[in-house]
Amino acid sequence: MTAQLIDGTAIAQKVRDGVKEKTAKRLAEGKSQPGLATVLVGDRIDSATYVSMKQKACAELGMTSYHHPLPADVSQADLEKLIKELNADPKVNGILVQLPLPDHLDEERVLQLISIEKDVDGFSPINLGRLAQKGREPLFVPCTPYGCIYLLKEAGVKIAGANAVVLGRSNIVGMPAALLLIKENATVTVVHSKTKDIPGVLRDADIIIAAIGRAEMVRGDWIKPGAAVIDVGINGIPKLNPDGTQMISQKTGKPLQRLVGDVNFEEAKEVAGFITPVPGGVGPMTIAMLMANTFRAAEIQDNK
Ligand code: NDP
Repeated sequence: MTAQLIDGTAIAQKVRDGVKEKTAKRLAEGKSQPGLATVLVGDRIDSATYVSMKQKACAELGMTSYHHPLPADVSQADLEKLIKELNADPKVNGILVQLPLPDHLDEERVLQLISIEKDVDGFSPINLGRLAQKGREPLFVPCTPYGCIYLLKEAGVKIAGANAVVLGRSNIVGMPAALLLIKENATVTVVHSKTKDIPGVLRDADIIIAAIGRAEMVRGDWIKPGAAVIDVGINGIPKLNPDGTQMISQKTGKPLQRLVGDVNFEEAKEVAGFITPVPGGVGPMTIAMLMANTFRAAEIQDNK
């Protein structure tokens, strides 16, 4: 392996330790305990798991979380009423609406309603709009892209002047990651499903952020030697026995899966200068940055 491994688990823990320490100091100074409201609509298992991880992180770091589970058929009016109540509640510093919402709900209207000072996910159109404007600063940036940039900086990767390629243009990862890289003075290309010659575009990249949700699509020979590779993808693929057959769980009888990123790690690590693993790369950073944002929200609201 030639690449330096960027250990997201360790870096995320450092961020969490910092937030925990600052929260304790805040409480010792007689200030309020930072509070995060989580809103979960319906019973998607993945969404419920993410929300429960966020609640646990709050407890571990000395913050309060207020959970608001809503039925899958909640009306737009009732959801908006809750958001308005949370906006007005001084105990709540951050509001997190777990996405995706069921199809009958208007996600954009919900995100628009969250007060920008409590928008710890950074998805409100105002915060995203500020991220896209020169000379303007958002109050919060989306947690996963924020985590990607944080990892690059912690690893000592020079972003200013670098050629960066972001794979994917979603509102939650690809597009804000590209905007953050531009703010850091990289020259940025965004690749999507209609891009021609993706390997050719990648071969010029000093920095790659891959967020497409396609298992191991980026091959080692698409990567410029020495490039920094941040792999956001989380994809489940069949876990195989040494003879190539599907591994089955002895307990449940179900086929076993393993997680891989959007980059072929085994090939990429021999070419790249820096690389994040999956799992243990970007994944742990998302919650760590949410905690950092929630702490900052409390500090911003102190001055109101
Ligand atoms: P989306 O499905 O919303 O977006 C995928 C993007 O990738 C789109 O812009 C799409 O292009 C592009 N794309 C898809 N297939 C290809 C292809 N073959 N070639 C080029 N571009 C392609 O995904 P998300 O942004 O929500 O998530 C991306 C990945 O990141 C997923 O694996 C997800 O699980 C993971 N993720 C990880 C997080 C973490 O905490 N580590 C947090 C959030 C996501 P187009 O726009 O043209 O359709």
